[in-house]
Amino acid sequence: MKMIRSPQRLQKILGKERLRKKTVGFVPTMGALHEGHLSLVKAADRENDITVLSIFVNPSQFGPNEDFSKYPRVLGADKRLLRKVKVDYLFCPSVPAIYPKDHATCVAVGAELAEVLCGKFRPGHFQGVATVVAKLLNIVAPSRLYLGAKDYQQATVIRRLVNDLNMNVRVRVMPTVREKDGLAMSSRNRYLNPEERRRALALSHALFELRRCLLKKKGTLASLRTQTVRKLEKAVDRVQYFEIVDPATLAPLKKIQRKMAVLTACFVGKTRLIDNVIISFP
Ligand code: AMP
Repeated sequence: MKMIRSPQRLQKILGKERLRKKTVGFVPTMGALHEGHLSLVKAADRENDITVLSIFVNPSQFGPNEDFSKYPRVLGADKRLLRKVKVDYLFCPSVPAIYPKDHATCVAVGAELAEVLCGKFRPGHFQGVATVVAKLLNIVAPSRLYLGAKDYQQATVIRRLVNDLNMNVRVRVMPTVREKDGLAMSSRNRYLNPEERRRALALSHALFELRRCLLKKKGTLASLRTQTVRKLEKAVDRVQYFEIVDPATLAPLKKIQRKMAVLTACFVGKTRLIDNVIISFP
C-alpha cells in the first residue's frame, strides 16, 4: 500500500495505470475505519485491478456546530486495519490541497434530494459532500465508486450527481455492516459511553421491528410509524427524524408501497446516529 498526499501525483500515477488498461475501484472515507469501510475495500478489490482508498475529513460537509474539529483522526490505526485487506493507494490529501485559498466552485444537487431528511437538519451538508466527491472523482477517475448503504441519502445524492454530470463511473452501493447486536457500524460509535452504546441499539431494533410489521401488514403506515417513533423516543435522547420514503425520490410516503426506505437520525447523548432499512415486498 502506497500512501499519497498530493492530488497531482495520484492523478499522474492513476493516469499511467489506466493507460495499462487497469480498472480502478475507489472507496472515499473520512477515516476512523471499521469493518464497514473494509467491506467496501473488499468489494473494490474483487471487481477491479487497483483499489484506491481516500481518507479526508471534509470540512465543507460539517456545519459550524458539528464535530469537524473533534472527528476522530487515527491514521496509524487506520493503516494497521488496512493491512487486513488489499489497498494499492491510500490517498490522504491535506485540506489546502483539496481546497486551496482561491477555491470558488461548489456542486449542489437538487433540494428534493439534498435538503430533506439529514439535509434539512444539516444545511449545506450535501453540497459539501457533492463537491468533495466530484473533486475526488476527478482526481481518481475510477471505473467504480464504492459507497455504503448505511449513508442511504448520501448514496442517493451521489448517484444523482454522477448521472446528472455524465460522470463515467459506476456507483456500487454495498450493504450496511452491523455489529453482532444490530448496531450499524459507524466512526461516530466511538463517541458513545457504555450506557449510550446500549441505548443506541434502539435505532436498528426500531427499524427491524417496523420492517417486520410492515411486511406482515400489521397496521397502516402512519400508525406503525407513530408506534415506532414512540418506542424509539423512550430509548434515545432525541429523534431528529424518522421517515418512510420512496427509495428513489426520497419523497415521504402516505401508503404502503412495494419498495420503501425507512430512515432515521437520533441523538444518543451528544452523538448523532443515523440508520436505515429498505423494505421490499416479494
Ligand atoms: P465515512 O468514513 O463515514 O464518510 O464513510 C465512508 C464510506 O463508508 C461511505 O460510503 C459510508 O456509507 C460507508 N460506510 C460507513 N459505515 C458503513 C457500514 N456500517 N457499512 C457499510 N458501509 C459503511
